[in-house]
This record gives sequence, structure tokens and C-alpha cells, in this order.
Amino acid sequence: MRPCLRLLAFSLLSCTLVAFAGEIHTFNCTNTNCNFKAVIFCGGGDAVAKVSGYCEHCGKIVTATFPHKERMGLGPHAVARIWDPATGKTLDVFACPTCKRPFAPVEKMNYCPKCGGKTMAEGAPGLWD
Ligand SMILES: [Zn+2]
Ligand SMILES: [Zn+2]
Repeated sequence: MRPCLRLLAFSLLSCTLVAFAGEIHTFNCTNTNCNFKAVIFCGGGDAVAKVSGYCEHCGKIVTATFPHKERMGLGPHAVARIWDPATGKTLDVFACPTCKRPFAPVEKMNYCPKCGGKTMAEGAPGLWD
């Protein structure tokens, strides 16, 4: 169990507790009839923290930006906290900046939200600050 737990802790750290800059993850759908693209902002820079997710109402990836005072993280900005039965973890959900409906943050995309296929491929990562 131990190596497994350490791996999990590392993967959580890599996304939620990045102190110096935020990460950008890009994904694209390999279904050529779909070509959905996603740019996911994650973590915090010096001034702001960003969180991205798919807004079902807007039908696109949206990014919410919050002040990053005192590095409190994104938790206090969540509009709700739900328990995710798929992972057994709690999940903070955030308000879409366009329509104000809640969206779940995305860190990895396996399924394409547009065509529904398991067709998402990860592109080159980047950093923002
Ligand atoms: Zn929306
Ligand atoms: Zn697709």
C-alpha cells in the first residue's frame, strides 16, 4: 500500500499545491470529426489562482480566477463541496464565470465532453504565473 499512497500524494501535490506558478495542461480530442480542445489552468501564480473545468451549460472549458491572497488555496472560493463516489474523495465545485452554474475542476481529461469518446490526448504542458 505504501508506494501507492506516496504516488497519490505526489500527484495531488503536483496540481493543488504548486507554490511558484500555475500549470497549464492541454488536451485535444483525437476524433477528427470533433477536434475538441481544452486548456486547463491549475494551481496558483503570485497574484491569482485559477481553476478550469467543463461547464455543461456553456458547453466549453471555462476558467475561474480568484485572488490568491495569503496562498489560501482554492477551497474558500468553492461554491459547494461534494463527495465523489468514483474516487471516494471530496470535490470542490466552482462557479462558471459566464453563467454562474457550478462546474467540477478538471485536472486530467480522459473522455471528451463534446463527443463522449475516450479520445482525449494530452498535449505539451506549460506554466503560467
Ligand atoms: Zn457556464
Ligand atoms: Zn471529441
